[in-house]
Amino acid sequence: MSNLPTLLAPTRSDEAGLQPAVEPPPPVRVDSRTSSLFDFLGAECQDGLSFDERFAGLSAFVDDLILRKHYHYRRVSLDGPGPVLHLQNPYADGVVTAINFASNDYLNLTRHPAVVGAAVDATRRYGVGTGASPAAVGNTDLHQRLEQQLARFSGCEEALVYNSGYGMNCGVLGALLRPRDLAILDSCVHASVMEGCKAAPVRIFDHNDLRSLESILARARNRYVNCLVVVEGVYSMDGDIAPLEGVISLARRYDARVMLDDAHGIGVLGATGRGTAEHLGLLGKVDIVAGTFSKSLGSVGGFVAGSSRMIRYLQMASRPYVFSAAPLASVAASVLAAIEVIESQPELHEQLWANIRHFRSALQGAGFDLGQTESAILPIMVRDDLKVKEMCRLLHDDGIVATAVVFPGVPQKQSRIRFSLNSGLERASLDYAIERITLHGKAMQVI
Ligand code: PMP
Repeated sequence: MSNLPTLLAPTRSDEAGLQPAVEPPPPVRVDSRTSSLFDFLGAECQDGLSFDERFAGLSAFVDDLILRKHYHYRRVSLDGPGPVLHLQNPYADGVVTAINFASNDYLNLTRHPAVVGAAVDATRRYGVGTGASPAAVGNTDLHQRLEQQLARFSGCEEALVYNSGYGMNCGVLGALLRPRDLAILDSCVHASVMEGCKAAPVRIFDHNDLRSLESILARARNRYVNCLVVVEGVYSMDGDIAPLEGVISLARRYDARVMLDDAHGIGVLGATGRGTAEHLGLLGKVDIVAGTFSKSLGSVGGFVAGSSRMIRYLQMASRPYVFSAAPLASVAASVLAAIEVIESQPELHEQLWANIRHFRSALQGAGFDLGQTESAILPIMVRDDLKVKEMCRLLHDDGIVATAVVFPGVPQKQSRIRFSLNSGLERASLDYAIERITLHGKAMQVI
């Protein structure tokens, strides 16, 4: 890291020892245009630094992002998600009204009257907390009903709910994989999948590349007791779809199991919104189906579905399940209502797809590269971190919020702006956004 201030250079450990810092280090100046979060979180040179030095370095990085209006994190919404956001202005007094391309609430169910009503009723009956882990007395009859519905929805025997999708991936993978097992992961799986496999041997195959997967399976299969291939249905940064049929048939050939994290496929893909497996005609063919409530299902939490015996095993062995409080009863009620809405109101799904098609074809027609997207996630490939930050600033000034995805979230040459589509976005909002994106894209030579 060439611009590393002297203050951030590694301290010689023999001098630093384990002595507590006596005084906080003096302020540091960082140029966020030439550094990245990785320099303050990932780089090895951070290892020799005291807490105070590390905090000072990252703080200076954030200060510089704010100064340049490139601080696209932790925006404060004044009334929750929806097609239009009301945000505190991060740089001055006042409120910013913005078209929302940054939430994953694809079917706009966070505000659907039936979904909200179910949560309110459940809160009155069950209270605002669960008081205990589901392994103790945190479970309710609503959780039980939700697990039955999720199992049916996923084409599996049984399901288990968790209080977050992140915790679910950590908890399922952490419980299933032992030192003599192997996790075989697509290179683009979510951070929570990586985290869940931390204690196990892991091999990574090239994104969506069946030949790469097969070469790992062929070489590794006999050396491990169990092999588990983990893919996402829809990849969260690219919006492309896993070649699930090929993954399943390779897994069968090499006696491996498949886990599908369908966080971004549920509600978006499939004739009845059941996700990637339904879309590809593979319902009931996936060993383990996992998902989150925080996207199309409009709430917060996660679930896993699979064989009855696996679910019973996880109920006893999955640490985030056993040692963390159960999700709220209002969450269970709202997700039950969301599933009912998805199944009974196909017009929401149709509206989402009409929006996706309109937005995608207009941006592609203007010359933007949207990669291989086939879902509600549309990445504009910019391939330059600074341009991404600057274009997001300009869009924010225009009242348009999308997600800046830069290094280390993706490799530097793959930075992009991610637009998440929503069934509630109006055509006029989409057209306004298309016009502003095209204007800035031309000015910044992205197209
Ligand atoms: N898996 C995938 C593929 C995700 O994209 C996410 C959320 N971004 C998660 C799991 C975690 O879900 P949650 O928000 O429920 O923690």
